Amino acid sequence: MSVEVKFDNLHNEIQRELKKSNESVLIAVAWITFRLYADIFKELINKGVKIEILCTNSSPNKKQIKIIEKLRSYGIEIRLCEMPTYTNHMHHKFAVIDNSVILNGSFNWSENAKKSFENLTIIKNETEIVNLFNQEFEKIKILDRKAIKSLQAKEKCKEKFCDGELANILIFQSSPLEMTYEIWGDVIRCCSVCGEDSYTTVVSGVQDTGLYSFFMKDELDLDEEGSILFDQEKDLYLIGYSQHGVVIHGIGFTCRELWGKNEESVFTKIVWKNKFVANAVRHRYESDFGVVYE
Ligand SMILES: [Zn+2]
Repeated sequence: MSVEVKFDNLHNEIQRELKKSNESVLIAVAWITFRLYADIFKELINKGVKIEILCTNSSPNKKQIKIIEKLRSYGIEIRLCEMPTYTNHMHHKFAVIDNSVILNGSFNWSENAKKSFENLTIIKNETEIVNLFNQEFEKIKILDRKAIKSLQAKEKCKEKFCDGELANILIFQSSPLEMTYEIWGDVIRCCSVCGEDSYTTVVSGVQDTGLYSFFMKDELDLDEEGSILFDQEKDLYLIGYSQHGVVIHGIGFTCRELWGKNEESVFTKIVWKNKFVANAVRHRYESDFGVVYE
């Protein structure tokens, strides 16, 4: 692996790396001055390189629709990502070249950024990092404005004097039914403040064996605290996941703990949550929320 950090001539550094491409270029950069890169993009397309671009749907990009259309006519996929409000942005500034080189930093690929203080890190031959950036790119590609909005939406708790927020959590029992190997769960709506003390069951009797095996494939460690949340791969799989029209913000499993001979306590361990509800969903609840199928 090699890592370099650059602070000067960033536009030239990016051009130099792009020109070396032979296979594919993924670009997720908030603002791009397309004419600065148009010749290189054309050169790459002629070499057979596949180019995909995500940028933000704000006026500096929208104003360039003529050149964007022209680049699209060469076969470049360009998407102007729309967010729920004008103050949210697809704000990344990264590129993945030939599945092996990462460009990432503060630098927008714009005329303006050339006059600012910016940084650019160039990472080469680091497969795991490449995978993470690829997954983030794919995730943004899947999400449209409506999907992002439903993931961001949090209702206020209806309890008196509570200013908590409600999130929808799909909770499965931790092991399949003995005879049928089916896994069942409920969707509960739970407040960030009230927690297990006040919840409603929104959908009962959810069965999704595919989802269950997705979580169980790497032997879910139910004792591990927090580290499996915000996993890129899980995000990509679950983004926009809904049950009976209810968007799921988090997923958990019920667990049992034995204390001595006859003492037993139940709790729920959260194994995934969407980043937009980071503060509204806990890691663990001291309840099984009545999710018991036998
Ligand atoms: Zn509440």
